[in-house]
Amino acid sequence: MKTIILLGAPGAGKGTIAEGIRNESVFIHVSTGDMLREAVKNGTVVGRQAEGFMKRGELVPDDVIVGIVGERLDRGARDLAYMFDGFPRTLEQARLLDETLSRYASKVDKVFLLDAPRELLMARLTGRRVCRKCGQSYHVINIPPKKTGVCDLCGGELYQRADDSEATILNRLEVYSKQTESLISYYEKKGVLVRIDSARQRQDTVAEILAIAKPLIAT
Ligand code: AMP
Repeated sequence: MKTIILLGAPGAGKGTIAEGIRNESVFIHVSTGDMLREAVKNGTVVGRQAEGFMKRGELVPDDVIVGIVGERLDRGARDLAYMFDGFPRTLEQARLLDETLSRYASKVDKVFLLDAPRELLMARLTGRRVCRKCGQSYHVINIPPKKTGVCDLCGGELYQRADDSEATILNRLEVYSKQTESLISYYEKKGVLVRIDSARQRQDTVAEILAIAKPLIAT
């Protein structure tokens, strides 16, 4: 099993970069944010536990997150390649991921830290629109749909995520610097951290990551 992680602040581009990598490799994209939004939509137990935290831009408790990720890994085959997006977000989650992977005689292979200036993070998040039906992401200025408010792919309605309001964004950025940034030194010490400039065009960032990630699968 190979594992890569996309780490970075909200708005750094984890979701769109992950989509680019998924389209050009065998990495299986696991986004805890997407899994939680789906759970909220379906009104499951996990969804009910997570909803309030998500609305406020706070982190969902570690036991809930580790539960859904553990289940996802147990369902998958051992020899697959995983790409985590938005997970881990705390040191506790990172330690538990290490423990889970060690059960499969595996470890985290690379962590890509997506770096972008704060003004760009804000601009990306406030302009983000998402398709209600298929989940495709757009941006009102950078990646506009052909027809305002309508998904190019499936014709679904585009909406603004509840946690993409300005006040919640500020809280999410604060939560990132308080609870997630410590993961940078955790993975740096393990020698697996790679810093990636994600203020560039999406395809350049994707290409740089693929050049490092693809050879991992061959080994
Ligand atoms: P994202 O789509 O990755 O920006 O996640 C949206 C929201 O889901 C976050 O603001 C958190 O409330 C929650 N969330 C997603 N992943 C995690 C995680 N690994 N740990 C805790 N909360 C998470």
